[in-house]
Amino acid sequence: MVCYKKARGQTLHVKITFLGAAQQVGQSAFLVQSEINLMLDCGMKVHDANQSELPHLERIRADALILSHAHLDHSGAAPALYKNHAIPAFATFPTMPLVSLLWEDSEKIAILNKTALPYGRKDVQRLTQHAMPMDYGAQYQFYEGTKFSFIDAGHILGSAQILLENKKTLLYTGDFKTEPTRLHAGAKAPDVPVDAMIMESTYAGKEHTPRKELEKKFCEEVQDAVDHDLTVLVPAFAVGRAQEMLMILQSGGVDADIWMDGMAKAVTGIMMDYPAYVRNAKALKSAVQDCRFVETHEQRRAAARKPGVIISTSGMMDGGPILSYLKAVNHHGKGAVFLTGYQGEGSNGEALLKGDKVRFTGYAEKIRLPIKQFDFSGHSSGSELLKYAKEVDPEYVYCVHGDDESCRLLAQQLKEEGFNASAPKAGDSVDIA
Ligand SMILES: [Zn+2]
Ligand SMILES: [Zn+2]
Repeated sequence: MVCYKKARGQTLHVKITFLGAAQQVGQSAFLVQSEINLMLDCGMKVHDANQSELPHLERIRADALILSHAHLDHSGAAPALYKNHAIPAFATFPTMPLVSLLWEDSEKIAILNKTALPYGRKDVQRLTQHAMPMDYGAQYQFYEGTKFSFIDAGHILGSAQILLENKKTLLYTGDFKTEPTRLHAGAKAPDVPVDAMIMESTYAGKEHTPRKELEKKFCEEVQDAVDHDLTVLVPAFAVGRAQEMLMILQSGGVDADIWMDGMAKAVTGIMMDYPAYVRNAKALKSAVQDCRFVETHEQRRAAARKPGVIISTSGMMDGGPILSYLKAVNHHGKGAVFLTGYQGEGSNGEALLKGDKVRFTGYAEKIRLPIKQFDFSGHSSGSELLKYAKEVDPEYVYCVHGDDESCRLLAQQLKEEGFNASAPKAGDSVDIA
């Protein structure tokens, strides 16, 4: 174990190594070394099936892992840390069941694609055996003196910012959203002074359509399509977006048959188990009761033939039942596709937006349906990022989790505001004295 020991009379140093998510989205992993070595997140590159660019975890000697949230770009490589040693894995209560579901799904996808994951089932088991769930606001103190707590990040169920307190205070925002959504209240800044902050930069320089306006437009377009006897396919991310769409459709008074399919169903079940982590659990329950879960092939076939709304995974259409709906609806032609989130480079969703062929198992096909995209996002906008940095007011800011342009732009904007800001590259280390 390589620790930064404090010699008598010396100031404690904190060293941060940016193992991933440095001028890119994916592989969020930060090693923080002081009296104890802590790994903040351990994600994978989401569109890299072979995981050829994993951080070199075999060389990492961490004493504990702290996960900000369940998304695989923050948690996907975590089991690989448990190959050779077992350490406590801290996460909020809902994060563990969510992440277990996502790891299971990764395994299924790997088997289907005949690829290998960088860890085995035993490593996943070892991690879950060492899981230490914690609530927002609770504080854990290591023997060495470092304390940490989770603060609501407003991004997905159980998403957290990580506040480390020692001689220096470090805030890692993870993915965060300050504007409230139907599911979550906005992220809150810590109520203690912060020396350094690792912050996401995903939407630096970009603004989102205001939620109210966006929700209204979405509901109007859905109603109009259903009134014209169309089957509206709503590809949605399993964690959060799918459930949010249910709530938006109900509160917008959309009169239509609403179906949910794919992994979103299991996630909805987990979400219902943690009402304290949802902004309005009653409204969620009511919206879930208003929709029907697709359980059989017959239901799937029937839903694809009728006017109505089908919310299904995967959100970027790279797998899951949404593809069989897309195939069926494309063939009868009486439908539309309403995308509800970001479509990554190389994804089927991106191909659809460009008018390229969509890849199904073993073949590709041109989609002849109207396509619309709605900018629902679980991330803060560019102006919200700047506002948040000013509110937290740290001396140092490290801009991560964005493409190179976004990370550098946010660092530049923060420098102009007087912060000591930078956009580190993968492998870079900094010392905070
Ligand atoms: Zn996320
Ligand atoms: Zn992320």
